[in-house]
Amino acid sequence: MAKNRPYILLTPGPLTTSDTVREAMLRDWCTWDEDYNNLVQDLRSRLLALAGKDTSGYTTVLMQGSGSFVVESVIGSVIPRDGKLLVVSNGAYGDRIETIAKMLGINYVKYRPKDSEIPDPQKISEYLAVDPAITHVAVVHVETTTGILNPIADIAAVVKGAGKILIVDSMSGFGGVSIDAPALGIDFLISSANKCIQGTPGFGFVIARTSELEQSKGRARSHALDLYDQWYNMEKGKGKWRFTSPTHIVRAFYQALIELEQEGGIAAREKRYQTNHRILTEGMLELGFTMVIPSELQSHIITSFYPPKVDDYNFKRFYQNLKDRGFVIYPGKLTEAETFRIGNIGDVFPSDMEDLLVAVKESMYWEQN
Ligand SMILES: *Cc1c(COP(=O)(O)O)cnc(C)c1O
Repeated sequence: MAKNRPYILLTPGPLTTSDTVREAMLRDWCTWDEDYNNLVQDLRSRLLALAGKDTSGYTTVLMQGSGSFVVESVIGSVIPRDGKLLVVSNGAYGDRIETIAKMLGINYVKYRPKDSEIPDPQKISEYLAVDPAITHVAVVHVETTTGILNPIADIAAVVKGAGKILIVDSMSGFGGVSIDAPALGIDFLISSANKCIQGTPGFGFVIARTSELEQSKGRARSHALDLYDQWYNMEKGKGKWRFTSPTHIVRAFYQALIELEQEGGIAAREKRYQTNHRILTEGMLELGFTMVIPSELQSHIITSFYPPKVDDYNFKRFYQNLKDRGFVIYPGKLTEAETFRIGNIGDVFPSDMEDLLVAVKESMYWEQN
């Protein structure tokens, strides 16, 4: 059993991290010293290299806060006052982008398929055609609400074909789902430290088209979340953050990047997550559970299930039974139906999924507990 791990987190962030990632936090760093700043620069270039084959013309910005802070930073910083945003949402995280736009007073329209449906690129094309005022489109890559995988390449083709700026929330996708941001023409891709790169929570990052980021100067609706200013200072100061940097988290993230490389990069990690996902879903179906999302739309990141068909099902008890056996799962986030979610990401392996299935079987039958 790994150290300091009373149970594993089968949740989509924070998630289970390795001992070595957590141990990397056991020293202090000076946020202004070049030892730390050099580490930040190295980290930024390693991140950029993960974003695609040819990343010239792109840059990386790190931003304090959880993933939503970084989404808010992008939405609030890159859309000009006379711009208009098309929010494409099929879940809670897409809806959160709408909330951000609304609260910041940004002009927007929303295309909202159901949680169980993927956005139709043809529909997006129609939105753009009827409303030429739209300048930016924001969409989630893997909707963590359900685990549905949105057709990001097809959406990018339509959005870039129409000459619009594309913002992708790839929070739970980046690092675990192969994506070539420059090749797809994505202008801003957002993710965070505590998802598929397997770091600890506290900051996020943006892979940005440099020319578009430069255009954002002076557009921010918030000082602390000003993406351009954060980038400008990081560039000028060669790895300096504008305000206090989450130094321990950054150091842990650096270790997580090394471990991603040691595993064989994103392709190898994606394969492990896919194996985790296959073992989980096959086993759960065998135990009589059903999946919320049709399997052809389901990502290998996180899976939503309907509750077991036993008479006195109670999520709290199911959750507690699993936790007692070493597994923490996630409640559902759907409004229409009671569901729960199990993540496949983090420092978890096929053998953990096999053990989980044994625990699920024991946890379903209340009379045995
Ligand atoms: C995790 C996640 C976020 C950010 O959530 P925080 O709780 O702010 O870290 C945003 N979008 C998606 C798709 C996510 O999975």
